Amino acid sequence: MTNIIIFGAPGSGKGTYSDEIVKRYGMGHISTGDVLRAEIKAGTELGKTAKQYIDNGQLLPDSLMIDILASTYDALPKGQGVIFDGFPRTIAQAEALKAMLAERGDDMGVMIELIVDEETLLARLLNRAVEQGRADDNEETIKKRFAVYHAQTEPLAEWFEGEGIRHTFTWKGEKELMLGEIFDFLDKL
Ligand code: AMP
Repeated sequence: MTNIIIFGAPGSGKGTYSDEIVKRYGMGHISTGDVLRAEIKAGTELGKTAKQYIDNGQLLPDSLMIDILASTYDALPKGQGVIFDGFPRTIAQAEALKAMLAERGDDMGVMIELIVDEETLLARLLNRAVEQGRADDNEETIKKRFAVYHAQTEPLAEWFEGEGIRHTFTWKGEKELMLGEIFDFLDKL
């Protein structure tokens, strides 16, 4: 499978759809949020730094994230494709990802954008707070994450458009419908 960048607001389902895509196509999966939460759990220096940003709904510095991404990518088996979930989140990260992959003779593949209305996003994140107990899923931090998303990450959709790899899927109220549309698209690649 080609590489996939899964893109969307907090709560848009990046993790959920990534898991389904991994199950169907057997590819690698990098969730930068999961990498950071594992570091926090392990109590590492990186985890301590990450916690300050995550709890505040802010993005970690690009240079740090780019290093984390490259080392995580290099640790994965080659040749089966990788789904990038939660990275890139800024134009600088996107440029770095493109360059990092090009250096390794690879490319970004396709970008899948998940479009979900804000009311649904908020309801999902508040529900996830109850189910998974994520520290950054409280209403105050969620609002900050939405603001950061609109200011720093959303403009990236146009950047992907310019790269000719943006493919948009819009939430119509049913997970199976969204998943079916995504699989139909990926099956044809
Ligand atoms: P996520 O699980 O993808 O929603 O990520 C949770 C939090 O981890 C974000 O709100 C950021 O604080 C941090 N984070 C994850 N990925 C990145 C990234 N690519 N760049 C900067 N910060 C990130």
